[in-house]
Amino acid sequence: MFQAIINEFINFVLPNSCLVCGASIDASERFICKNCSGKLEPYNQTHPWQDEYKALGIIDNSLSAYWFRADKELQPLLHAMKYQKMRSVGRMLGRDLGKLIAAKNTTPFDLVIPVPLHKAKFRDRTYNQSDFIAEGINDIIRAKVITGAIKRTRFTPSQTKLDKAARKENVSDAFAVNPKHAGEIKGKHIIVVDDVITTGATILECCGAVKQAGAGKVWAVSAAYAELKMDD
Ligand SMILES: [Zn+2]
Repeated sequence: MFQAIINEFINFVLPNSCLVCGASIDASERFICKNCSGKLEPYNQTHPWQDEYKALGIIDNSLSAYWFRADKELQPLLHAMKYQKMRSVGRMLGRDLGKLIAAKNTTPFDLVIPVPLHKAKFRDRTYNQSDFIAEGINDIIRAKVITGAIKRTRFTPSQTKLDKAARKENVSDAFAVNPKHAGEIKGKHIIVVDDVITTGATILECCGAVKQAGAGKVWAVSAAYAELKMDD
């Protein structure tokens, strides 16, 4: 906790070094040097499940900003955000995502809702890195962030092992909208955000929960997309 605050402070006030390669960076750059940021790999693709879940009415669109690949430039950034509580790194990634959303979107969004951490993880870390990304998105799209709007209600079997009908069923009750926020969600256009999408199961379940609570347009977005399950 203390170290995280110190890191953040050092990063804020001192001529900095790149979180990826360690090269010193100037005041116009933050956390990552131009060389390393040029190597971040835009995702630029349609998620493999996008069409199916659009057809099911669970999402209206989805996108990720970058590819996550082990030992590539994005990994130290995600790590700093996740384990060193570097809020500004999450916010920077969120702004990248916000620009993509703004470029593809025609009607404004009302809310940005982070995917909740699992309870056990939350106890260990006391913060949710997806909240930081949500703030960055909101810097660009100027809606409203609601943290804690979605709650995990039970563990679910892996989505990929179920057939289509069972998948929809599975989606509908793994997460629920916190009753406290139900009134704010009804009829609203919503961005649901996670740090990394792998199978898509978690974020799609969250999107299903907000749709069930009467949300309007729902987009599933993430800072990164990974083909393999990350060890987190
Ligand atoms: Zn670098």
